[in-house]
Amino acid sequence: MPSSGTISLDVAIIGAGPAGAAAALALGGRGLRVGLIEKAELPRHKTCGGGVLRRAIKLLPVSVAAAVERECATAELVHHDPDLRFVSTRSESIVSMVMRDRFDHLLTTAAVAAGAELFTGRAVESVAVEAGAVRIGTPGQIFEARIVIAADGVTSTVARLTHRPALRDVVPALECEVTFSDKVMAPFQAAARFDFGLVTAGYGWVFPKRNHLSIGVGTTKRGAASLPQEYRRYLDRLGLGAPMSEERRGYMIPCRPRDGLFDVSRVLFVGDAAGLADPVTAEGITGGILSGQLAAQAVVAGGLDPATVTATYQARLAEALLADLRIARRLAWLFYDCPRLRVQLLRRYGPRLSEIMTRIVTGETTYRAVVRRPGNYLKLLRRAA
Ligand SMILES: Cc1cc2nc3c(=O)[nH]c(=O)nc-3n(C[C@H](O)[C@H](O)[C@H](O)COP(=O)(O)OP(=O)(O)OC[C@H]3O[C@@H](n4cnc5c(N)ncnc54)[C@H](O)[C@@H]3O)c2cc1C
Repeated sequence: MPSSGTISLDVAIIGAGPAGAAAALALGGRGLRVGLIEKAELPRHKTCGGGVLRRAIKLLPVSVAAAVERECATAELVHHDPDLRFVSTRSESIVSMVMRDRFDHLLTTAAVAAGAELFTGRAVESVAVEAGAVRIGTPGQIFEARIVIAADGVTSTVARLTHRPALRDVVPALECEVTFSDKVMAPFQAAARFDFGLVTAGYGWVFPKRNHLSIGVGTTKRGAASLPQEYRRYLDRLGLGAPMSEERRGYMIPCRPRDGLFDVSRVLFVGDAAGLADPVTAEGITGGILSGQLAAQAVVAGGLDPATVTATYQARLAEALLADLRIARRLAWLFYDCPRLRVQLLRRYGPRLSEIMTRIVTGETTYRAVVRRPGNYLKLLRRAA
């Protein structure tokens, strides 16, 4: 029996980012008591480029139009030294540009409307997996839940408290919200731009927001690059000069699924807490939303029975995401660790490769479907690396 003052839940979702909110939304209307436990007060800032790919938008059961600052139906892949440029365009948006405080808040509000109870200002500090439930301690409030969905991001407290191995392939990225004069920003406002060949083993991006640009750099090699220096070089290369205003923040993106992901009874890890960002693009919102939804579906399909829920989540995640991320990891190795091969490939197949990436990020295809296509030269990635 829960002690007095303890809130008893069927499902406790820890973290109200895209992964947690998507899980809560998917559990709506199932007759379950669902609590969404978040350490911050909402809306809260999240360091992120705020580029939501079409494949992520497609997964969502609610419109996020109110949080979108700009729609980009053009994606530009630029390579430096040698200089190459590939442009893909669609009739619909390829990347929807958002600020994460509003985007995440919109999803959380939708989850609450779907029936989740939101507990903000509650940082989870203890997690104890007991015989019939998980006991979750936050300042001033204890929760008990039959299943926990851990959506608490790359620094997951739940992973630490349940003694999960540390995440591997966590890549650093620097994101800057910058303002220039309207005249300077105008040429960057129509497209999502990705620049390769400048940042060591990584890339730079320019994402246009309503009144400013989000410019960032990320590298797959920790310690190989000084991101502030790479960022300055990138601004120079873009011919942008000194910004009128600039807010700079660095953070980490986990690009390899966490080891021991399915080994804690009653606890399902999703999103960054599970290490599910795409290793090619370092984009994590799709993996967050998809894994959150799959965890929710597993809870329903497994009728809250811990073993069945975990087995169902493991099988569905493997099929829908992990297999794809494995191929993406090989492609990322080729792209970031083999620069000469990357240049050769782009010289020879640039337009096709850029078109394939556009088809992947829009959800028209997947990494797995691409390498499975008979005759496709990328099928080598099934065995490589
Ligand atoms: C610089 C940078 C740029 C990026 N750009 C993009 C991009 O353009 N597009 C893209 O798709 N991805 C991008 N990403 C990755 C993306 O931000 C993440 O993959 C995504 O936010 C993961 O979502 P999530 O819900 O798993 O975790 P998060 O969004 O990190 O949410 C976790 C939530 O858990 C809460 N929390 C943490 N600890 C606790 C606790 N102890 N108790 C309770 N609550 C807790 C946090 O406050 C937070 O609200 C970028 C990342 C970085 C660092």
